[in-house]
Amino acid sequence: MNQIGYWVWKLWIGARLRCPNCEQGKMFSSLFRMEPVCDHCGARYERAQGESIGGTLINLVAAEMLSMGGFIVSQVLFSPPMIFQLVFWVAFNLIFILLFYRHARGMWVSVAYLAGSVYPDDTPPQAEPKP
Ligand SMILES: [Zn+2]
Repeated sequence: MNQIGYWVWKLWIGARLRCPNCEQGKMFSSLFRMEPVCDHCGARYERAQGESIGGTLINLVAAEMLSMGGFIVSQVLFSPPMIFQLVFWVAFNLIFILLFYRHARGMWVSVAYLAGSVYPDDTPPQAEPKP
């Protein structure tokens, strides 16, 4: 696997809510509660307070790109009434953000893993994870 394929694979592992370190442990124990460490390998998912803001950013950027893109495409193709467009895309935005929340946070943990900050507490950090 080349470097970019490895990164995409780890992001996919995170989006599937699995630990990017061992690819076995589950990150979430319930709908919105993320485990502090992996129950399989012990890797700590977040080292600093407020690190999850990156996941929120992924979530919001994905939601805005999809809803703005969807709005423009549906306007060009069907030109529905503007009130319908507004109600539909605002609702889409809220539902998408809710449903994608865990996956975006999981992807952010993968980003942190690729940057070298997701590892078990009792082992020294690697300078760079090996593909
Ligand atoms: Zn793990």
